[in-house]
Amino acid sequence: MSSSDPDVILIGGGIMSAHLGAMLKRLDPRLAIEVYEAAPELARESSDGWNNAGTGHAGLCELNYTPPPAVAGAPIDVTKALEIFARFEQSRQFWSYAVARGLAPHPTEWIRAVPHLSFARGESQVAFLRARHAALTAHPFFRAMEFTAEHDVLRRWAPLLVEGRAAESIAATKIEAGTDVNFGALSRQLLAWLGAQEHCRVFTGHRVTQLRRAAEGWELVTHDSASGETRPVRARFVFIGAGGGTIPLLQAADLPVARGLAAFPIAGQWLVCENPAVVARHFGKVYGPPPPDSGALGGPHLDVRHLHGKRVLLFGPFATWTTKFLHHTGRPTDLPRSIRADNLLTLLRTGVHNFVLVRFLVREALQSMDTRLRALRQFYPEARAADWRLVDAGIRVQALKKADAGRLSFGTEVVTAPDGTLAALLGASPGASVSANIALEIIQRCFPEKLRAPDGHARMKEMLTTFDTDLGQPAAVADYARRSAEIDDVLQLRSSSPPG
Ligand SMILES: Cc1cc2nc3c(=O)[nH]c(=O)nc-3n(C[C@H](O)[C@H](O)[C@H](O)COP(=O)(O)OP(=O)(O)OC[C@H]3O[C@@H](n4cnc5c(N)ncnc54)[C@H](O)[C@@H]3O)c2cc1C
Repeated sequence: MSSSDPDVILIGGGIMSAHLGAMLKRLDPRLAIEVYEAAPELARESSDGWNNAGTGHAGLCELNYTPPPAVAGAPIDVTKALEIFARFEQSRQFWSYAVARGLAPHPTEWIRAVPHLSFARGESQVAFLRARHAALTAHPFFRAMEFTAEHDVLRRWAPLLVEGRAAESIAATKIEAGTDVNFGALSRQLLAWLGAQEHCRVFTGHRVTQLRRAAEGWELVTHDSASGETRPVRARFVFIGAGGGTIPLLQAADLPVARGLAAFPIAGQWLVCENPAVVARHFGKVYGPPPPDSGALGGPHLDVRHLHGKRVLLFGPFATWTTKFLHHTGRPTDLPRSIRADNLLTLLRTGVHNFVLVRFLVREALQSMDTRLRALRQFYPEARAADWRLVDAGIRVQALKKADAGRLSFGTEVVTAPDGTLAALLGASPGASVSANIALEIIQRCFPEKLRAPDGHARMKEMLTTFDTDLGQPAAVADYARRSAEIDDVLQLRSSSPPG
């Protein structure tokens, strides 16, 4: 390494690099950190406001975190919902720190209080939702959640769900403490702060094209799209936070975990409504149950979003086909070029094991606008075709690991080099919402000495008060009870009533 080489290189300018970069720099202000983003702008792929649902995933409304029990009447397992809540609370801790310390100083540009609702139709779904509500409200995290099967109450909560509906058994839960987050705007504020720090630089329009081991760390080659120049750079530690571009880079790094690793892209689409008369009548994120056969992909939802200073409604996501791994800088050849002799079997085996899911994805991709509108009308019976248009959402690139023997898991996973000099993030969901917890995991695995140092421990404690707490234990609940209102104040989340 030469003295001009940075200590840390972050590949990709999305929400993950933004969190890891900001946390590392606050942990050790001497670190030289460089960020390389291929696109001309930061955070325009999955982290961009339009490309994800912006749900602050905290287990408040997502029914896939509390699957129905295999045997009717058996207790509902809420473990996953509790885990996501505690991890999201760490994001809120870091975000309030970032606001207070000027790292992301304008919270109203990237976070808002929005009620989170779960919606059930038909006797068996309603019975499940009632049981889920009872199981969740037994825990302090979810105590404020309300349940109703009364049409009149539901009409007050979300009129679009009720109007024009035939006499049908419906129910919902609602909790005011939900959030709508513009992860793209948050990433750009954090990265602007990072780029202004001593020894730190953030490059856009610079694609990392090669990644290989060097004597002490890693050597990368970057390509500047404006000048056409290529340049080698070296660092002791590299994070691949390249979203859809991660797997090809991991394959280039030739880590043991990359052997047999295959990638499969699933693009998303939303129905969007910008008609102010409709938008003004819906204020919440309403999640339904995942469709049969969709695996753990998650259910459709009708959401209010605040994007580019405007309030809109989104419904979806709908899965569709692509062979590109990235919207802006990807190519149709991404998928074929990722297939190699060592991962072809992984790809085929996953397809065979998940035949039902593959069939579901094919059906989704082939559906017409009318079919999509029919899905919307299950939530909003009086939806008019003229008010809705279809737009592209982000691309999830699913990592298929040889060791999983064809089983699919849709969570996020940190993988690291055995010597801790490289980390990468695989998977999409719950993703952005738990980015502070993911950055913490990378720091714990790759920079443990920084957390052991007394000043490092104190600095991390300031950023994440529960960083050294087992999130499943009462201490995490006590921290939530003690700090939640203060965090709401800093993030300006006190009221979730719609702006007048
Ligand atoms: C349809 C959909 C809905 C979602 N909804 C939610 C939600 O409601 N809540 C939630 O928390 N999460 C949600 N997610 C997941 C969330 O969007 C992701 O977890 C998160 O944005 C990933 O951030 P990232 O920084 O890892 O990747 P990205 O935001 O994709 O950033 C990666 C960056 O790396 C760059 N890059 C790629 N290759 C290279 C290279 N070789 N060199 C340099 N740069 C490169 C890309 O241009 C990109 O800017 C959703 C995802 C999808 C697809």
